[in-house]
Amino acid sequence: MAQNQKKESAGWKVAIVSSLLLAPIGSLIYDMIKAKPILSTFQAWVSSIYSWIVWLLNYPIKTWYILVVVSVVVIIIVIAGVLMTDKKHSPDFIDYKIDKLKNWYWSWDYWYNSTQLKYNIINLMPYCGKCQMIMLERRDPVTYYCPKCEFQHDSGSYNFGPNKWEEKMDIEALILDNIDKKRYPRKA
Ligand SMILES: [Zn+2]
Repeated sequence: MAQNQKKESAGWKVAIVSSLLLAPIGSLIYDMIKAKPILSTFQAWVSSIYSWIVWLLNYPIKTWYILVVVSVVVIIIVIAGVLMTDKKHSPDFIDYKIDKLKNWYWSWDYWYNSTQLKYNIINLMPYCGKCQMIMLERRDPVTYYCPKCEFQHDSGSYNFGPNKWEEKMDIEALILDNIDKKRYPRKA
């Protein structure tokens, strides 16, 4: 019983102290609100935004400006879309563009055939392993030569040994076979 009375009196003390502390704070906030007419400030703010919007909408501007801006935005969106889809759908082998096939190094590119829905090999050319550059082609007899070190593959004279003449058709078949069997360096 005595303990309960003690608790009650402690509770009263807390209540009195908090009201003593809170009352001045509360009245301070009330005074601040009274000093600054918040509602009218808010109204002024809304009306200035409204008049700014009205001014913007009534701004005299040539129609072609808008057309130019809209076209630029549309073009940017289309290009970004194309780039994103390309990145998303480009296959694993897209970076496999150089390899030693049979006895020579070859380099090539890919072109996506949208009617056949497949990648075709294009620009297939021998590659000078020494100078790290694509060799050029000379006709009659067909000769591939490096414009830098002048090393060459000549269809007329190299028909035996490690420099045996290679046909592009065969090399393309080997590349496609490597792609098919996933025998190419792949991204981690
Ligand atoms: Zn070379």
